[in-house]
Amino acid sequence: ILARIKDVCKRNGLLILSVLSVTIGCLLGFFLRTRRLSQQEISYFQFPGELLMRMLKMLILPLVVSSLMSGLAALDAKTSSRLGIITVTYYLWTTFVAVIVGIIMVSIIHPGGAAAKESTEEGGKPIMSSADALLDLIRNMFPANLVEATFKQYRTRSIPIIKSNKASSESTTRRIIIYGVQDENGSNVQNFALDITPPPEVIYKSEPGTSDGMNVLGIVIFSATMGIMLGRMGNSGVPLVSFCQCLNESVMKIVAVAVWYFPFGIVFLIAGKILEMDDPSAIGKKLGFYAITVVCGLVVHGLFILPMMYFFITKKNPIVFIRGILQALLIALATSSSSATLPITFKCLLENNHVDRRIARFVLPVGATINMDGTALYEAVAAIFIAQVNNYELDFGQIITISITATAASIGAAGIPQAGLVTMVIVLTSVGLPTDDITLIIAVDWALDRFRTMINVLGDALAAGIMAHICRKEFIKDGDEVPLICETK
Ligand code: ASP
Repeated sequence: ILARIKDVCKRNGLLILSVLSVTIGCLLGFFLRTRRLSQQEISYFQFPGELLMRMLKMLILPLVVSSLMSGLAALDAKTSSRLGIITVTYYLWTTFVAVIVGIIMVSIIHPGGAAAKESTEEGGKPIMSSADALLDLIRNMFPANLVEATFKQYRTRSIPIIKSNKASSESTTRRIIIYGVQDENGSNVQNFALDITPPPEVIYKSEPGTSDGMNVLGIVIFSATMGIMLGRMGNSGVPLVSFCQCLNESVMKIVAVAVWYFPFGIVFLIAGKILEMDDPSAIGKKLGFYAITVVCGLVVHGLFILPMMYFFITKKNPIVFIRGILQALLIALATSSSSATLPITFKCLLENNHVDRRIARFVLPVGATINMDGTALYEAVAAIFIAQVNNYELDFGQIITISITATAASIGAAGIPQAGLVTMVIVLTSVGLPTDDITLIIAVDWALDRFRTMINVLGDALAAGIMAHICRKEFIKDGDEVPLICETK
């Protein structure tokens, strides 16, 4: 028995360490909450976790560019277009299914019943319409400056403007009331001045702008186009393709070394987040039910629907496949970012599940950018929850609108923490729900983000397995006998 335990530990050492780190991180976080650390102490404590995030983020750019360019260049024109069409269709389909699961869950559990709203902003509301969000998505697809795209993305901003109506003398005149307190003899003992000038009206206008964060979508579109063109250039494209292959392999070697730091970083990443979170007892009952609805939807989609699709298409055991990517799922849980998890997803798929490199190099970066089943499901649930809280009856047409816009919003969301919260504006405005009600769900979003990111990563990985199965004939026809996907032992 001892020998067997030793063997299991040796083969799954990193995975066991990662599971332990998540557990220790949770326990340590809750323990330290009782110690009431200062903000400064918390930020020092979070440093090893911050380092983990930095390492992962550092690898995203070289990994995405090199994998897409070398991956697509290695495929012939027919195979790359077939793979592209099947992959994107599959991604859209599974995302849409996730939205439907979310809608069914939120209709059954009905977490939002009519209730007084817990918080809203007063005054003129910042505006960002669905059209703005859609334009941002398209702008991000075509970055004007590639270097800028590595650290900035387009995001429409709401600019507050003080409305001063010069034509109306009433709005520019200050109005002050002076009143005094008199003693019994009728003489003033104290005078008070009360300014009753109406406050200037603040209105918001939206203006195209940028926000910090890599524009992964733009980089994916550029690299994929370059990869396809390099493939068509034949021999003259070989030097750049070899460069990208070399870059890709060296990044994966860095990943292989860096993973040994990850279990340590995960402890501090998770504990640090627990130290920062709001008091869990302050979370209302409705918000609790909302969180349960999202988690149930994610469980149904991630543990039943996606694995079943994998099974029906490939006739292989999905549990074996999922076991191979457990480490990537833990990193997704710890980082809340599918882009940051990308290097580990690659590693797991290539080393544990033996998915063909050429498939993984295309399917994974594209998936980490546009395929977010967990995010789409959560957006649909959140929008309907907000409607329920407002006692707003949604008709069938509006439910269809939510399902389409939630799919679009998840495509537009970047693979970074809480990106889905931002793109939710698209869904809410499409059916006329108040966008500032997003504040209702902020308290639990950091936690839900972790679970939906796990499902996003799971969806990408299973898609790579399915694509490898579907496209296997093309590769074998090319005289390539390498098995595209084998089961892990
Ligand atoms: N954090 C998610 C991801 O990286 C995106 C989101 O839903 O906010 O996949």
